[in-house]
Amino acid sequence: MIVMKFGGTSVGSAGAIESVRRIVAGRLRSDPVVVVSAVGGITNLLLDAAQKAKARSRDGIRLLERIAAVHGTILRELSLPGGMVAKEHELLREVLHGVYCLGELTPRTLDYVASFGERISAKIVSAHFSNRGIPSRPYTGWEAGVVTTGEHCNASPLPTTYARIRSRLSRRKKLAVVTGFIGKDEHGEITTLGRGGSDFSAAIIGRGLNAREVQIWTDVTGIMTADPRVVPQAATLPRLSFSEAAELAYFGAKVLHPRTIEPAVEKDIPVRILNTFEPDAGGSLVVRRAAPPKHGIRAIACKKNNILFNLRSTRMLDAHGYLARIFEVFTHHRVPVDLIATSEVSVSATVDAGVAPALKEIIADLGRICTARMIGGRAIVCVVGEGIGGTPNIAGRIFTIIGKGGINVEMISQASSALNISFLVKNADADKAVRLLHRAYLER
Ligand code: ASP
Ligand code: MG
Repeated sequence: MIVMKFGGTSVGSAGAIESVRRIVAGRLRSDPVVVVSAVGGITNLLLDAAQKAKARSRDGIRLLERIAAVHGTILRELSLPGGMVAKEHELLREVLHGVYCLGELTPRTLDYVASFGERISAKIVSAHFSNRGIPSRPYTGWEAGVVTTGEHCNASPLPTTYARIRSRLSRRKKLAVVTGFIGKDEHGEITTLGRGGSDFSAAIIGRGLNAREVQIWTDVTGIMTADPRVVPQAATLPRLSFSEAAELAYFGAKVLHPRTIEPAVEKDIPVRILNTFEPDAGGSLVVRRAAPPKHGIRAIACKKNNILFNLRSTRMLDAHGYLARIFEVFTHHRVPVDLIATSEVSVSATVDAGVAPALKEIIADLGRICTARMIGGRAIVCVVGEGIGGTPNIAGRIFTIIGKGGINVEMISQASSALNISFLVKNADADKAVRLLHRAYLER
């Protein structure tokens, strides 16, 4: 069997849902279980409505009308009864009214509100399937067996989930359309698996049913060799390893969050990314182990707008605990550090400018430990490929190409994973660096 997960854009309109039906109809022989996201944009509207209600604004209820209108249009265009999801909208109205009256919104209530996006889309998609010749039944995550930790808004599956999924779904008589993103904890409270969590649901269900493949149907053709807005020659990667996908996701190729497909990949279930709007394009297959790329490099990612911290202290010489004190500062301000490089007297570290609002305080705190300087407008270029670490002279070639391009490299980091080399350049040089490397390695 296979799991086919369709994201928000794939179920974002009547036309898209009909494309989904055609795609599924063509693969019934593979015995699919379908997992769906909320209709595109609805989760944001639901969360927004809840926050507005908490702030005692009537806009919360007004947003609910917008949500109902989006679903209403889809139902009408698919010739489904308009009242089909009236009960869900009524429950939403009640809870938002409660939030409004109390001016209080707990994570548990937020999850309850958010759950309706997927509950409604699964009902609509399943009804459309049944209407058009594919007998189908909608399942909530919990009906399908997904039991999670009680960590609201960011729950994880409990180990018992997999056996439960097997017992709930293996004897299905009709095509199962399961809500992504949501489950229940052991006390029966609704939980969500974190934003974008429908991919996670698909991987969890795939593992529970020991699927041959988990398919993530989205609105791009897969993971690419580089950002096509920067490199027009960028191509979809037919096959890459899970570790490569993880490195690329972190540094800019935001097709999927690697954490979400872990349950499948750990069990050697391949995850394929496909485009609902171009179903015949091959897509990208993510597998646990992939052969190293032919010329050493699989893809190049880039993340702009980082801040470089240059930290110097003669105290580091022969001392212990210095690095720990520096990282305590970043931890205290809850700022993730991306790249680091050290010599005996200096440490360079980068952080994403978007997640580091407390810069003045950070530099003041660092100033108590060392001489701290901060430079903004820096880009991380991340070259990824299984085997990079074990291939002689890859780094030499990369930096020769960059140097010949007249680009100054300000920091270099090659982690022990041995499958990436990352370096820092000025924002203004980043696109050129990516293009030069792409041309040398990936256009031949
Ligand atoms: N609907 C949820 C979200 O927008 C989950 C998902 O789409 O994967 O985050
Ligand atoms: Mg998504």
